[in-house]
Formats: sequence, C-alpha cells, structure tokens
Amino acid sequence: MSSSIIDFVATEARFGAHNYEPIGVVLSRGEGVWVWDTEGNRYLDCLSAYSAVSQGHCHPKILAAMVEQARRLTLTSRAFHNDQLALFYEEIAALTGSHKVLPMNSGAEAVESAIKAVRKWGYEVKGVPDGAAEIIVCANNFHGRTLGIVGFSTDPETRTHFGPFAPGFRIIPFGDAAALQDAITPNTVAFLVEPIQGEAGVIIPPAGYFTEVRQLCTANNVMLVLDEIQTGLGRTGKLLAEQHEGIEADVTLLGKALSGGFYPVSAVLSNNDVLGTLRPGQHGSTFGGNPLACAVARAAMRVLVEEGMIENAARQGMRFLEGLKDIRANTIREVRGRGLMLAVELHPEAGRARRYCEALRGMGILAKDTHEQTIRIAPPLVITSDQVDWALERLATTLTQDFS
Ligand SMILES: *Cc1c(COP(=O)(O)O)cnc(C)c1O
Repeated sequence: MSSSIIDFVATEARFGAHNYEPIGVVLSRGEGVWVWDTEGNRYLDCLSAYSAVSQGHCHPKILAAMVEQARRLTLTSRAFHNDQLALFYEEIAALTGSHKVLPMNSGAEAVESAIKAVRKWGYEVKGVPDGAAEIIVCANNFHGRTLGIVGFSTDPETRTHFGPFAPGFRIIPFGDAAALQDAITPNTVAFLVEPIQGEAGVIIPPAGYFTEVRQLCTANNVMLVLDEIQTGLGRTGKLLAEQHEGIEADVTLLGKALSGGFYPVSAVLSNNDVLGTLRPGQHGSTFGGNPLACAVARAAMRVLVEEGMIENAARQGMRFLEGLKDIRANTIREVRGRGLMLAVELHPEAGRARRYCEALRGMGILAKDTHEQTIRIAPPLVITSDQVDWALERLATTLTQDFS
C-alpha cells in the first residue's frame, strides 16, 4: 500500500463519524461500469452506489446537462418558479404514467414525504380520526435512515438507542398477503413496501403476492406505496419493478438512479389525490425541485430510455443469473435476482460474505456484502455480455475458495 492510500483511510478514520466500514479501496475516477483507485487499479463496479449509478459512472450526457445547467442557474428555492421543474414534471410523468409529482432530494426524504402525504390523505379524504392513522410496513424493510423511518425498522442495529420513535406503524412479514389482510383496520391509510427487498438481501416475494396486495389495498381503500428507490428505473429489467407483477402502485417512490449518481434527486409520484392534499406551506425542501437537480434528472431519465439500458438490464441480468447458477461451489446456498439486482447467499459455514468481497476486490471486482452471508451484485445497467462473463469468471474463482 502506498502512503497516499494510508493517508486517505487514516484521515477518514481520524475525523469522520465511524458509521461506515468501507472496503479498503480509495477510488478516484469512474467511467461506465469501471472505477479506478488512486493507484490506477481498475475495478468493475458491482454495487453502483447501491443502484444510484445505474446509467454508468460519469455518463457524458448527464455530465453535459449538469455542467450546462450549473453555468446557468442552480438554485432558486420553490419561492420562485424555474424553467426546469415543469419540464422535469412533464417528462417523469410521461415516463412513469403518474399524474402528480413531489420532488425531493434523498430517498429517505421521499419516504418521509410519502408518509406525511398518506397520513394527510387518510385524515382529509378517507376520514380517519385525527392522530389515529396507521401505516403497515414489512419486517426487514429498508426505507432509509431518518428518525421516522428507523422507528419502524426491524433491524436492531438500525434502531437501537435512537428512540423514542413515532407511533402509527404496524409490522408484518414480507411476502405474506394474509398477514396484510389481518393487519388492515379502518384506520389503515397505507401499506409501504419494497417490490423486492434490497438491503435485506434481494428478497423476491412469492409469485402472486403483489396481485393480492393490490386487491387488498383497493378493497380497503388503503394506499399502496411502493418504495422503488432501489428497484425502479430499470434495475430489475423493467422501468418499475411493479411491472413484473402487473400492478400499479398508488404512490411510487424514486431516488438513487433518478440522477444517475450525479446529485441527490428523489420523487414521490402518485396516481390519485394523495399529493393533492398538500397545500402551500405544509411541506417543502430548500433544494427539492431545484433547476440543477431537474436538469440532471431529465438527462438521467433520457439516457436510460434512449440507450436501451432497461432492456439491457433484462438481458444481461438473465445472463448473469444463469452464469451464477452454473457456478458449482459448496459455499453457495442460493443465487437469486431479477434484472441486474442479484445476490449470492453463502452457506453459514462458508465464512462471512465480507471476506469474499475483499477477495473479489483483489480480482478487480467491487461488490458489497449485506447481512453477513449475502453478496449483492448490481452493476451499472450499461454492462456488456463480455463484462458479465469477465465478472462471472472471477466470481467462480472466488466462490470456490474457502474463507471459513
Ligand atoms: C437507498 C434506499 C432508500 C434511502 O435512500 P437515501 O437516498 O439513502 O436516503 C430508501 N428505500 C430504499 C428501498 C433504498 O434502497
């Protein structure tokens, strides 16, 4: 290790809150599926910043849009109109088939905003008594890190010693429609759920689950809020993961790849009057809907469609999944995924997934473990067949080693 690497890592450790434990690589450049460290070593990025860099690192068209807009106007606040917001609304509505849009910044903010909006809808439209609104969520959910959200997490690491938490949430098992039916009361305003649980380890619900969920929500006048912050915008091989299930959410949350990794941009999308309950002064954000964010998001959505990234995610995802299934290794317990949202779950005896990720790093692949036993694989959606095969070769070599 050169002194520069030790410097970056040590300095981070000295000054930074220690709320992350990064793999020991210091990155300084990215292009497409590749990133380079300060030593000039190249890696295939199989995390894509948790799916925020779906369009590939430093996509030239998004970069151009960002630079051009940054020269003209970056921030007005919503106290005034700007000439990018309307175009962003029009284009995201056309892309997703939504009627109303609320622009925010981080994913967690989109989730918080949706919670506020469905509660307000519950009181003002559904007629739930004030203060009694209930929102149903799933065990092992991941919706972000703000106080409201971690209060209904089931992960002890996420919530311990951060309380007291906001009431009004009920937790049911993921993938169990009967549990949803049992949990719904007259005061239930929404069911907030990920189409595929990402942070939990790429957990895909049983076939037909979301059809039943959709029916139950409709029958009980409960808003179905799909958190597509990770699954959305092509990651699973369709624009939205809900399309695999043949359903439509009432409220859809997007973030991460909405900016192609250039800038925090998120959005709450709705197909009904949920967002209509928000009146001037009742919700907002200094940066939400700013012209720079809008210009970046417009370019990020455009390249996703124009460059066929969603179809590519479906095609390469299939190739990647088949290839992973073909790896004969005693370490592998299960391989699963949809599109380019993939995971390899290891047997408990195989050792920690972290060790495998460190070994992969040595072979030129950056991947991230989740929950001790699972290696998550989510490369940018621009990955080619040759690059998939290149990654599979290295994964096969690594997974047949024993790090127990
Ligand atoms: C990443 C993520 C979030 C939170 O997004 P941030 O931008 O980190 O706040 C919320 N929901 C899901 C499903 C996510 O994957």
